Amino acid sequence: TTADISMKQAQVAGDAAKSASQEAAQIANEAFEYQSVQVLKGVGPAVAEKLKRLEIYNIQDVLFHLPMRYEDRTRVTPLGSLQLGQQALIEGTIDHSEIKFAGRGRRSLLCYLSDNTGAVVLRFFHFNKAQQNNLSVGTRLRCFGEARRGATRLEIVHPEYQVLHAVDGVIEQSLTPIYPRTEGVHQTLLKKISEQVLSTINQGRLIDWLPRGLLEAIFDAGSKQRRWPDLVTAISQVHRPDSDADVDRLNECSTLAQQRLLFEELVAHQLSLLKVRMDIRKNRALSLKVTADEYAAFTSKLPFELTHAQQRVIAEIYADISSPQPMLRLVQGDVGSGKTVVAAAAAIAVINAGGQIAIMAPTEILAEQHYVNFRQWFDEDACALLTGKDKGRKREHKLASILAGEVHIIIGTHALFQQDVHFENLVLLVVDEQHRFGVHQRLALREKGQVSAGGENRVPHQLIMTATPIPRSLAMTAYADLDYSVIDELPAGRKPVTTVVVSTARRDEVIQRIESACEKGEQAYWVCTLVEESEVLQCQAAEVAAQQLGNELENVRVGLVHGRMKQQQKQQIVSRFKSREIDLLVATTVIEVGVDVPNASLMVIENAERLGLAQLHQLRGRVGRGSKQSACVLMYQAPLSENGKQRMSILRETNDGFKVAEKDLELRGPGEVLGTRQTGLMQMRIADIVRDECWFPDVKKAARYIIRHHPQSVKPLVRRWLGKADRFVNV
Ligand code: ADP
Ligand code: MG
Repeated sequence: TTADISMKQAQVAGDAAKSASQEAAQIANEAFEYQSVQVLKGVGPAVAEKLKRLEIYNIQDVLFHLPMRYEDRTRVTPLGSLQLGQQALIEGTIDHSEIKFAGRGRRSLLCYLSDNTGAVVLRFFHFNKAQQNNLSVGTRLRCFGEARRGATRLEIVHPEYQVLHAVDGVIEQSLTPIYPRTEGVHQTLLKKISEQVLSTINQGRLIDWLPRGLLEAIFDAGSKQRRWPDLVTAISQVHRPDSDADVDRLNECSTLAQQRLLFEELVAHQLSLLKVRMDIRKNRALSLKVTADEYAAFTSKLPFELTHAQQRVIAEIYADISSPQPMLRLVQGDVGSGKTVVAAAAAIAVINAGGQIAIMAPTEILAEQHYVNFRQWFDEDACALLTGKDKGRKREHKLASILAGEVHIIIGTHALFQQDVHFENLVLLVVDEQHRFGVHQRLALREKGQVSAGGENRVPHQLIMTATPIPRSLAMTAYADLDYSVIDELPAGRKPVTTVVVSTARRDEVIQRIESACEKGEQAYWVCTLVEESEVLQCQAAEVAAQQLGNELENVRVGLVHGRMKQQQKQQIVSRFKSREIDLLVATTVIEVGVDVPNASLMVIENAERLGLAQLHQLRGRVGRGSKQSACVLMYQAPLSENGKQRMSILRETNDGFKVAEKDLELRGPGEVLGTRQTGLMQMRIADIVRDECWFPDVKKAARYIIRHHPQSVKPLVRRWLGKADRFVNV
C-alpha cells in the first residue's frame, strides 16, 4: 500500500543518512557489497564459480552487471509490416516445410510461416529430427529474431521459437534486457538472480555513494541532470524498463537512468586514476632548477630555434620539477614535433643537481638515436646506453657505472628496468612511448620508478612523451593521472607530406619515382610489412625486396635494415644512410621510430593496408623532416576492403596526427588503440568513452568534488565499477 511504500522510503532515506555519516556499521555489513551471491536461490558453489567469470562475486555485482541491450517482445508484429533488419516478435502458422541442400553437404530446414497479413521464411542450419517433426505444417509458432533479406521474401535465421497451443503464450509486459553472458551462464539465470536482488533493492542495502549535493554542485539549476533518478530507481529501471520505455532510446543509452549510471561509471574511472596520482604525489622528489644562463647556453648549441610550443612545454616542465612534489606529466606531440630536445632541456636540470636521468625508448634503434643526440648535447662520458643486447661483462660494467653514479644520462629500452639495474640517484624518468601507449606498461614502470634515491626516500619526477596525439576523451580516461602538455606546432619550414595511394599493379611507376628522386640526390625508404607475426618471415621478405630492388634500380645504392640484425650492424647501416652512402633504405617496420634523416624525402610502404593508421602515420613522419617537399606512397594489394579504403583515404587527406588518431579510434575502438583490450583497464559496463565524450568536463568536476568533500566515497565507487580492473589494486 501507499503507506507501506512511504514507510519504506522514510527508512531508505534514514539508512542512507546513517551510512553517509558512517555510523551504522551494521548496515554496512548487511550492504549488498558484503553478501556473497550464494545467498541467492539457485546459486550454489558451482554457479558462483561460473559467475566469477563475469566478475560477479557479491550481490552488488549482480546489480552492476548491466544489460548491454534490450529487445522488444512486448507486441507481436504482423508479418505484413515486418521491416528488413527489424528484431521482432512474430506469430504465424507453418504452411510448408522443406529441407534444402546447398553445396558441400550443407543443408537447411526452411519453414514458411504466414499470418493473414503476410509471410516469412524461417531458416535453420542446425536442427534435429525432433525439431523437424515439431515444425510440421499447421503448427502455430511464436518466434523472435531479426528479419534479413532472403531469396524471395524476408527470412529469419535461427529464430527463438515456441510452439503455440490453444491458450498459452503470455506476451512480455516490458522490454527484455539482454545481459553480457559467458559460457555456462545463460540469460535465464542472469534474469532470475537479478530479479531476486531487485525485489529487495528498496531495503537500503544498495548504498548510493554519489554524495548528496554533488549534482547541485556541478550542474546548473534547471538542467535535466538535476532530475536524474536516485541510484535505486536508476538501477531498477535499467534492469527492468518501465512498460512504456522506448527500446531505441534504451539501446542508445539515452534515458535519464542510463545517463545517471554511465556518469557514475566515468566518475569511478576518473577517481581510480586520480587516486594513483595522489598516492605518487604524496612522495617527495628532488627540486630541480635551471638558470636562464644555463638554458641559454644549451639553446645556443642547437642548430635551430626552438618553436614556441617547445619553449612553452619546457617552461611547464621546469615549473613542475622545481617543486619537491614529483612531476607527472605527459607531453604529446605529433611525429617530428621535436620532443627529444624537450627531454634534453629537462636533463640540464638533472645534471645541475648531480642526479641521474633515465630515458626509456620503445625500440633499440630509437634508444641508439637518442644516445647519439644526447652525446652531442652533453658531456659524452656522462651518457650511457643500455639495451637488451648488452650481455655479460659489458653489461656488468655499465650497471656498475650506473650504480656508482659515474653516468648521469642513461638511455635504453625496457632493459633499463630490469631487476638488477640500480641507480645511484635517479631524479627524472622519461618514457618515450611513441604511439605504443600500453597503460599497464606505464604502471609497471611506475613501480620501478619508486626507488629510494640519494639515501633519502624520494621518487623520481616522471615525464611521458607520446607521438600520436590522443583524442581528449582517451587522454582523460587513460591519462587522467597526468598533467598534460601539447607540442602543437611543427618546426618552421616543414612541408606537409603528400600521400598517394596506389595498387601494387602500379609498382613500375613507383620504382621510376624512386629512381628519379635518387638521381636528384634525394633519399628514400622502402618499408616492408608482412601480415604474419613472425619476425623471421618479415626479415626474409625485406631481404628479398632489397635484392629485387637492387636489381631493378641500377644506379641506386640499396641498403637493408631489419630487426634481426646485430645492433652494430643496424647502427652502421643507418649511419651510412645518414651520410648518404646509401640512397634507398629497405626496412621492416623497425624504422617506424628513430630514424631521423632530413634528406630522405620519399617513402614507399608496401602492403600498407596491413598496418594500423597510427603506425602508418608514424612511419610517414620519417619523411618531411627537411625543407624539401616529401611524399609517401601507400602501396596496397588489391582488392582493398571498404574499411581499408577508408583508412587509406584518411591518410591521404590529412597530415594532422590528431585527426588520424580520432579516426583510428572510430575505426578500431579504444581497446585496440590503447592496447588495453586484454588488461580490461578500459572496459566499461555502460559508458562508452567515444560516445560519452561530452560528459568529460563534468566527470572531472565531479571527481574533484568527491575527493575534496567526500573522500570516503572514493573506494566504494571504484570498487563497485572497476572491481578487479581497479588500477590501485595493481599498483
Ligand atoms: P619527435 O620525437 O617529436 O618525433 P624529434 O625529437 O625526433 O621529433 O625531432 C625531429 C627532428 O626535428 C630532429 O631532427 C630534430 O633535431 C629536429 N628539430 C627539433 N626541434 C626543432 C626545431 N625547433 N626546429 C627545427 N628542427 C627541429
Ligand atoms: Mg621521438
